[in-house]
Amino acid sequence: MKLHDEKDRMRYQNIWVLAEMTPECGVHSAAFELLGAARKLADVSGCEVWAVSLTAKHTQASQELVRYGADTVLEIADERFEGFNDELECNVLERLVRKYRPDILLGAATVRGRALIPRLAGKLHTGLTADCTGLDIDHETGELLQTRPAFGGNIMATIRCRGFRPQMATVRPKVMKALRPDFERKGRVITETLTAEDFSKIKQIVETVTEDGSTVSLGDARVIVSGGRAMKGPEGFMLLERLAKKLGGAVGASRAAVDNGWIAYPHQIGQTGQTVQADVYISCGISGQIQHLVGMQSCGTIIAIDTDDTTPMMQMADIAVKGDLFDIIPEMIKELDKAGIGRGGYET
Ligand SMILES: Cc1cc2nc3c(=O)[nH]c(=O)nc-3n(C[C@H](O)[C@H](O)[C@H](O)COP(=O)(O)OP(=O)(O)OC[C@H]3O[C@@H](n4cnc5c(N)ncnc54)[C@H](O)[C@@H]3O)c2cc1C
Repeated sequence: MKLHDEKDRMRYQNIWVLAEMTPECGVHSAAFELLGAARKLADVSGCEVWAVSLTAKHTQASQELVRYGADTVLEIADERFEGFNDELECNVLERLVRKYRPDILLGAATVRGRALIPRLAGKLHTGLTADCTGLDIDHETGELLQTRPAFGGNIMATIRCRGFRPQMATVRPKVMKALRPDFERKGRVITETLTAEDFSKIKQIVETVTEDGSTVSLGDARVIVSGGRAMKGPEGFMLLERLAKKLGGAVGASRAAVDNGWIAYPHQIGQTGQTVQADVYISCGISGQIQHLVGMQSCGTIIAIDTDDTTPMMQMADIAVKGDLFDIIPEMIKELDKAGIGRGGYET
């Protein structure tokens, strides 16, 4: 929405966090991370943090959102939010934004967020900075400073949205940190309802198809075993799957492996894939180009296996193992077996 003058600008207040709900109607962990970021911004600019929750069921979500930093929760609970209809959610959010006029609106760059938030920015005729890695407030102008990698991660760009409101940004899950929940925190809840106008010009969902691999929860995995071009084919990834299962972890991949069709896209880690923060990241035959590193560099302990010890991944690893992964990984599985780790339910 275009700003006409300073008086108009002053009518936009507060920071909104779109709190995504999981299909089970729990709050997505990315919403807590966004609330942590929003809280810090609000403390600088002296405004409120609002969490906006569109949910299919009445839940305890609003209390949780307050504990993690929201002052106000704007909630619509309606069974017609069952499933995910980005057009419906977009219509509702557009109506709410026009009514309450937030100054800043933050969303998570999840699969749903990536479908919904650009559509909303288009409808509101305002700017959107996707995949921010840093957010701050300009102390002089009060504008949101939105920082994100540009040109393949080689430079960091800081972007402002001048002349339009709300200032919109998305952040990938696991980039920001959630605050510790404060069980004494009090907030207010504003309840809205769906209106007939929300259903104008929306598609009907006939069937929902789950894509292979879309259930991979790399974001929550504590251990990730990740493979690159060196895996040579889908059979190589079956070997990684065996190791990951033994360690109770998930399988990740470089873009080279995904582009070759050896493993599905939801496993991809990096600039155009997922950002992960596992305790342990085992990189198998991944050279560690910057586009991959930006997605996994915040992991705790990084173990790299490569025949070439000069690669960026081997150089940055906490433990670098030089050698052929097709010798080393079966040995690791054998040793885990001997130690009785991860036995049961699958072949070795
Ligand atoms: C705009 C853009 C976005 C991108 N986004 C992403 C992204 O999100 N994620 C991503 O991963 N990449 C991304 N890329 C691609 C990225 O630049 C690299 O091309 C890619 O990460 C390389 O994948 P790799 O490390 O598996 O392959 P390579 O660079 O080919 O590395 C293979 C490694 O395997 C080692 N090796 C070979 N055989 C063995 C063996 N038997 N045992 C042990 N080691 C062995 C080699 O020594 C080498 O180090 C992007 C690129 C661009 C331009």
